Amino acid sequence: MSVRSDRSGRCRDGSRDWLLVPRLLGRLIIPVRCAGCGRYDIAWCRSCQGAWVPAGFRCELQVPRLNRSDSITLPVWALTAYDGASRLAILAAKAGGRHDLHPVMASRLAYAAWCRRAALAVNQDRIAVVPVPSSSRAIRERGADMTGLLAREVARNCGWQMAALLCTSGRKRDQVGLGRAARQRNIAGTIQVVHRRLSPQFRQAVLIDDIVTSGATLHHSRKALEACGIRVVGAMVLAATAP
Ligand SMILES: [Zn+2]
Repeated sequence: MSVRSDRSGRCRDGSRDWLLVPRLLGRLIIPVRCAGCGRYDIAWCRSCQGAWVPAGFRCELQVPRLNRSDSITLPVWALTAYDGASRLAILAAKAGGRHDLHPVMASRLAYAAWCRRAALAVNQDRIAVVPVPSSSRAIRERGADMTGLLAREVARNCGWQMAALLCTSGRKRDQVGLGRAARQRNIAGTIQVVHRRLSPQFRQAVLIDDIVTSGATLHHSRKALEACGIRVVGAMVLAATAP
């Protein structure tokens, strides 16, 4: 978070920033720190954001569940590797209450989707942007539906339609903190299509998730949509774990 004013409280355009004093007082009480490296007085520093590739990179070949189980591998774009400062920033945004990071992460994913839109779909008019579902318990505990927010921004930026076509059922735990095998057991059979939200206008779908680890969530989401006649043309995620 940058301060646009000088010491007199005057902004660079000459006007006074009346929120400067309350903002500085607020920082004294609750200091802002970079979610990646912990640097003071900034929410997410340039150096930490520098590890994110603006247009994203293909990562499906390092995702075992996608690469081995399907005859057609699902193309997946990620913006960063899920480690170091990027991992800390995503964890803070996802489960650490740092909801201030959601808009900037969403806008980065939306920009990457815009760059990749030609590769994602042939017919740009009939694309549903589908967030992979989180359990209602996880959304309640985290205080926000992060994948829903990401999907909404991708849809808005690309001129597509956000559609929450998937839901979870059964006893799914939060995926945070689970290993690869536990994630696959946790997710198997719990992702279902919300049939009342289906529309003939949705012929293709782009899946949105925050992190891809084993690929189990994307795999089961894809299977559920394709069973309803919707072709999943790709997925966009914030981060991919190392193989
Ligand atoms: Zn930082």
